[in-house]
Amino acid sequence: MHGHLPRLRKVFRRSYQLRPRTIRAFAFAFVGLVILSFVGAEGWSVWQAREDRLDNARLTTMNMTRALVQQANDTIQAADIALVGVVDVLENDGMDAAAKPNFKILLQRTAIRFPALNSVSIYDSQGQGIATSRTVITGRFAIPDREYFRYHVTHRETTAHVGAPVRSVTSGKWILPVSRRINRPDGSFAGIAVATIDVDYFAQYQNSFDIGWNGAILLMMDNGTVIVRRPYDPALIGADLSKGVVYRAFLGNGERGSAVLTGVVDGKKRMYSYQRLPDYPVIVSSALAVDDVLAHWREDKQRTTAIEAVVLAVLCVVGYRLIRLIDEREQAQEELRQAKGALEVMNKSLERLSLQDSLTGLGNRRLFDTALAEEFARAVRGGTPLALLLIDVDYFKRYNDHYGHLAGDVCLRQIGETLMRTGSRPGDVAVRYGGEELAVLLPETDEAGAIAMGERFRIAIHSLELLHAGSPVGIVTVSVGASACVPGLDSSSAESLIQATDKALYVAKESGRNQVRGATHPT
Ligand code: GH3
Ligand code: MG
Ligand code: MG
Repeated sequence: MHGHLPRLRKVFRRSYQLRPRTIRAFAFAFVGLVILSFVGAEGWSVWQAREDRLDNARLTTMNMTRALVQQANDTIQAADIALVGVVDVLENDGMDAAAKPNFKILLQRTAIRFPALNSVSIYDSQGQGIATSRTVITGRFAIPDREYFRYHVTHRETTAHVGAPVRSVTSGKWILPVSRRINRPDGSFAGIAVATIDVDYFAQYQNSFDIGWNGAILLMMDNGTVIVRRPYDPALIGADLSKGVVYRAFLGNGERGSAVLTGVVDGKKRMYSYQRLPDYPVIVSSALAVDDVLAHWREDKQRTTAIEAVVLAVLCVVGYRLIRLIDEREQAQEELRQAKGALEVMNKSLERLSLQDSLTGLGNRRLFDTALAEEFARAVRGGTPLALLLIDVDYFKRYNDHYGHLAGDVCLRQIGETLMRTGSRPGDVAVRYGGEELAVLLPETDEAGAIAMGERFRIAIHSLELLHAGSPVGIVTVSVGASACVPGLDSSSAESLIQATDKALYVAKESGRNQVRGATHPT
């Protein structure tokens, strides 16, 4: 843990030193990422809410279908059980027993016991009616053409058969026939027993469910024949829906399943759940319309979308301001940098000016003082000699008096330029020491070298041949004092070097001017 902090600081510092373009790009990426993740998260949660609603609908329809399957299976089973008792009696006592009055009572009791039953009837091997639970018989009491009758003629199985819904010949109502074959003792066909269930019984149960405005419930044979559908439409009973989506899903996926499908009856998109009855060839499906299921979700979505739009707008504005802020900061910093650069340039020229003599362009006394101290210290460290020249113009007072002060200034400037031109080494420091007196500091130079240097200056000035009426020579000349010391060895100081040089200059003046004099070796 301890080692992390400095490293973190370092990373932070480095990030602080990032180039402004990079910071800007980071800010862009950051704002973009915030907006993207916001939109992504919101979109995901809206999608999730939609999936939740559909999942709920799937669960609801599955439960509804299970209840419908239970009821349908129980009802058909009740009819089947009723038939078992009746068939038993006739197979034991013979078909003649059906004609007896007490048999009619048995049929009536059976029909009453199961409220779903419309009637229980017995037909002989020709399809002619023998007995029925109904009290009043209208129309023809014979069913030789019915599908379920012909089925039992050709099928020896004694299990129950569920036929397609038919209109009762006697009442005209839609009924679902459940039938069983009656065998003679030798196994030959004696007739059938039929229990009919009122299709309306299923329709009423279907109506007890809340399936919204556009839901649907379907009860059909496992060959696609409609038994009854909600919303109720008598024209659909007995219709063939084997080309419908539910039936096709059933064929594709087996006994049960759920799927969002677009119904063929009304073209509505629904969440369907379907299941086959466990004991009979009947299929049940129930469905909720996707429009109904998602109605609330759509309202919610519109509300949240409106709020999101506002938040998004705020995010965009804040992001824009953030990037603007970075730009502005960078601009301010750039201006600061420029101002700092200009200040530095100004400072440098000021510094140079403060160390320069304005008349001659040589260094001034201030430069001389600091240079002397530095060079003296350096000479001490290196054990090297340090020399000094003092150059004074001869009879300059008279020059001024004769030519005027301005001309005196021009003369001084010429002397200064000559001094600069008359090659000295890079380390040499030439200054205007005061008035018409110049000084040259010569590092790593002994007195002999300094005298030679002084001589070069003297000759250079002499060669200018500047007229000087007040001088016995007739031209401007200078006197030079030269002196050197080895600061590390002798016990000399900067002051003593100046004094010695000054003394040498004095000697040069006294000896007739226009000459160089050393402090120790008078020439
Ligand atoms: P010498 O040195 O040969 O003994 O005689 P001198 O006349 O030069 O004597 P001194 O050095 O004492 O005189 C200095 C004169 O230099 C005095 C002054 O008029 C003149 N002077 C000093 N500074 C300036 C300056 O900046 N411009 C001009 N024009 N004259 C200056
Ligand atoms: Mg002087
Ligand atoms: Mg002088």
